[in-house]
Amino acid sequence: MNDSEALVRTLKRAATVRCPTDALIEGRSVAALDGARFTNSAPGDGRSLGDVVSGSAADIDRAVVSARAAFEDGRWRDQTAKAKKAVLHAFADILTAHADELALLESLDTGKPIGDAEAVDIPLAINTTRYYAEALDKIYGEVAPPSPTRLSYAVHEPLGVIGAIVPWNFPLHMAMWKVAPALAMGNSVVLKPAEQSPMTAIRMAELALDAGLPTGVLNVVPGTGDAAGQALARHMDVDMIAFTGSGQVGRLLMRYSGESNLKRVSLELGGKSPQIVFPDCPDLDAAAQAAAWAIFYNQGQVCTAASRLLVHRDIKSDFVQRVVEVAKTIVPGDPLDPATRFGAMISEAQMNVALGYIATAEREGAQRMLGGSRVRQESGGYYVEPTIFDGVATTATLAREEVFGPVLGIIEFGDDEEAYAIANDTVYGLAAGVWTANLNRAHAAARRLKAGLVWVNGWDACDITMPFGGFKQSGFGRDRSLHALAKYADLKAVSFTLGAA
Ligand code: NAD
Repeated sequence: MNDSEALVRTLKRAATVRCPTDALIEGRSVAALDGARFTNSAPGDGRSLGDVVSGSAADIDRAVVSARAAFEDGRWRDQTAKAKKAVLHAFADILTAHADELALLESLDTGKPIGDAEAVDIPLAINTTRYYAEALDKIYGEVAPPSPTRLSYAVHEPLGVIGAIVPWNFPLHMAMWKVAPALAMGNSVVLKPAEQSPMTAIRMAELALDAGLPTGVLNVVPGTGDAAGQALARHMDVDMIAFTGSGQVGRLLMRYSGESNLKRVSLELGGKSPQIVFPDCPDLDAAAQAAAWAIFYNQGQVCTAASRLLVHRDIKSDFVQRVVEVAKTIVPGDPLDPATRFGAMISEAQMNVALGYIATAEREGAQRMLGGSRVRQESGGYYVEPTIFDGVATTATLAREEVFGPVLGIIEFGDDEEAYAIANDTVYGLAAGVWTANLNRAHAAARRLKAGLVWVNGWDACDITMPFGGFKQSGFGRDRSLHALAKYADLKAVSFTLGAA
C-alpha cells in the first residue's frame, strides 16, 4: 500500500469507527444521572466525536459504590493469583486484537500522529498490562526472624477502591500505568479520563469485561476535572488517588484528601527537563536527533520533554545548527495521515498557551531560530510549528515554566559546575539527560542531577522495567516497574504468639 492509499484507508476507518461516549459503571454503558454531556471534538480538524457523558458527583458515587461492592465481596481480590493473571493476559490479548481501533480512537481524540498511536501508545499500554499480569504471582510477603514463642509475617493487602485521574497526552498509556498495577494487587478502580481524551479509556474498560474482569472492578466515569475529578478525590470511600497531570491539580488533590478521608495521593506531575551536551559528546548527530525529538515528540506535550537544551559554548553554534536542521524536517501534518510524524496540539487552549510562551520569549529577548507560528489553520485544527529559541536567559520565563508544547529553549554553559547548577535550578525534577564520552563525567552527572530519571547518551532510553516519577515538584510515588505495585497495597503485620505444643 502506498502513502496515499494508506491515508484513504485511515480516513475511511475514521469515518465509520464507533466513538465511545458513555460512562461504564457496573458493567453497563450508562448516561449521566442528570443527562449532562459535553461535545468531544478532534483537535486535528475540529470534527465532532460525539457527546460524551459529563459525570457529576452522583455518577462518581455510583461508580465508587459499585467498585466498593466488587472489592468487599472478593469477586476479584479473592481470585487466585493464577486466575487473576489469566484474566489480565486475556485483557492484553483483547487489547492487542483491537489495537488498530484503539490507535485510531487515540489519534482522533488527541491529534497525535496515527503512526505514533499505533507504534507507541497502544503497544506500550498493552505491554504494561502484560508486565503486571506477569508480576502479580511473584509478590511475596516477609517472615520476621523466627523465635520459639512468636511467628510474625508481613503481607501486602490491596487498598480497596483506587481513583485514577489521568491526562490527555498519552491517554490509554497513562491509564494503564495506574489500572494494571492496581488490578494486579487486587483493587477495584474508578478511572476518570481527561475530558479532552475519554474514548480509549471507555473502550478499554469495555474490553476488560470481555476478557473476564468481573463487573464493578473497573468503572470509567468521563467528565470535567472540577466536577467528576473533584468528586472522586473528595469521596469518603475512595482509598487512594493515583494522578498524572499538572502540579496545580496535584496541589488540589492533596487538599481534597486532607479535607475528606486522608486518602493516599500519588502524584506524577510536570517538568522542565534539561538535556546537557558536553563538548566530548560521542555523536553530535545522534545528540541533535535526540535533542529535537525530545522536545517535539507528541507536539511537545510530554511531561519528560527536554525543554531546556544546555550546550557547552565550544560546540554551541555547530550543535544548534544541527538541531535546527533536524527540526526543519519535523513538519506538522494531518494526524490521520500515516506519513505524519508531528500532529495537532490537544486543544485551542493548549495551542494558545504555547503561542503565549513564544510571544513571551520574543519579548524577553531570546533569538528565534525556527518556527514560532500557528500553521494549518484552514484544517480547522490546532497546529504550532516546532519552535527553537537560542540565547535563553536562565531567569527567562522559557527557562523556568513548563510550556507543554513544541518550544525549545537553548542555554549556553561554560563548565560542568555551571551546567549542573543551571540544570538543577528549577522547581521540577522529572528527567535529565547528558551527552558525554567520559565515563567519570557521566557518573558524576547521574549523581549530581536532581531528577527521578537520568539518561546518558540517549533520551527516554528506558521502559516498563524501570521506575518512572519525579523529584521535587515533579511529584512523588512511582509508576512502572515492580516499585509501582507497593503504592496500591497496604502492609499488614501479623504476629502469632506460640505456646507449648
Ligand atoms: P491537568 O492537571 O489539568 O488534568 C489532568 C487530569 O486532572 C484530567 O483528567 C483533569 O480532568 C483532572 N482534573 C482537573 N482539575 C481537577 C480537579 N480540580 N480535581 C480533580 N481532577 C482534576 O493536566 P493536563 O493539562 O490534562 O495535563 C498536562 C499536565 O500533566 C502537564 O503539567 C504535564 O507535565 C503533566 N503530565 C505529567 C506526567 C507525568 O507522568 N509526570 C505525564 C503526563 C502529563
